[in-house]
Amino acid sequence: MRKDIEARNRRMMEMLHARAAKLTRGESLTPPIVNAAKYALPGDPDHAFPYGRFDNPTWQSLEAAIGALEDAETVCFPSGMAAVTAAIMAALKPKAKVLLPSDGYYTVRVLMDEFFRQHDIEVTEVATADMDRHDLSAYDLVWLETPSNPGLDTCDIAAIAEHTHAAGGLVCVDNTTATPLLQPTLDLGADLTVSSDTKALAGHSDVLFGHVSARNGDLIERVRQWRKLSGSTPGPAEAYLAYRGLMTLEVRLERMCANAMALANLFYTHPAVQAVRFPGLADDPSYATATKQMAQPGFVIGLSFADKATAERFITECPAIFAATSFGGVQTSGERRARWGDDVAEGYVRLSVGCEPRDALMSAISETLDTL
Ligand SMILES: *Cc1c(COP(=O)(O)O)cnc(C)c1O
Repeated sequence: MRKDIEARNRRMMEMLHARAAKLTRGESLTPPIVNAAKYALPGDPDHAFPYGRFDNPTWQSLEAAIGALEDAETVCFPSGMAAVTAAIMAALKPKAKVLLPSDGYYTVRVLMDEFFRQHDIEVTEVATADMDRHDLSAYDLVWLETPSNPGLDTCDIAAIAEHTHAAGGLVCVDNTTATPLLQPTLDLGADLTVSSDTKALAGHSDVLFGHVSARNGDLIERVRQWRKLSGSTPGPAEAYLAYRGLMTLEVRLERMCANAMALANLFYTHPAVQAVRFPGLADDPSYATATKQMAQPGFVIGLSFADKATAERFITECPAIFAATSFGGVQTSGERRARWGDDVAEGYVRLSVGCEPRDALMSAISETLDTL
């Protein structure tokens, strides 16, 4: 663990100082937003920037920074789903057998159903909590999301990667909920990692963004080629917003994780809350695996109230909770996931804990709980 913390701190330092180290006198510490469709290109087109769809200096600044955290080559995308699609396209072979979590981010399953199954891609779904026991000998691509969203179940990335690799398959982890700071998926053996940077990585609820990282040169080259050929290109201003958010990722996560731990303990003992899911609680089903592979248990809490009405009152009457979908922002936010059709009870609330001062947040939430 000590070694992991040192590696994490080293990557964090590298990320923060990567750009500064290369600057010449008079250049800005922040990356410029380069709005460019055309670059000067006389003669042969063998230049790093031939055309706006191929590459962009603002993307490169962001990719270098995220790449320092992932310790891997990184390609950025205009949304998490654009990154997910790129990873799938890079990893799939014709007639591939794919294993998906049945309880992961639902749009990934819909995408597979709507657009991939028809091309002889065979998709099997297994719950995240059952992944560790599932026979992995038949898959070309194993897709993981741990902790899963919204149920917060976990699976053992290192063990699954070992079994999948032994059978010749690839593993891709959607690391949105944890971020590379809390869970170094590539160190644990994943071949590809994807993230919706819309969430905690950019962290300010003002931009959609995503990235794919891999240490295998051929795989990441396929991802890059997919971006270039499909035109799944981020705007340079959005890339800058993601860069700016990323610079404070560690301090935000520190506060969010500490707030979440304190709140999870409050929920655990409060009579208005029927059940709490949080990988940092010692009797949570995810505790052992989360402790093994995550630096901290994160900032998302699952809460069960008696019914839909009580859950709605908690969300809408608490002044410290912003009623919205998505997670990982500065402000604490929450929603009932059943409203999107997730396979959870009507009274289940996904709470994304934010950066508010802890005592003020705790008292606002406990006052609302007392009225339920
Ligand atoms: C939000 C989310 C996505 C999709 O990201 P967008 O930026 O909304 O496209 C993918 N995976 C997970 C786990 C998410 O939470």
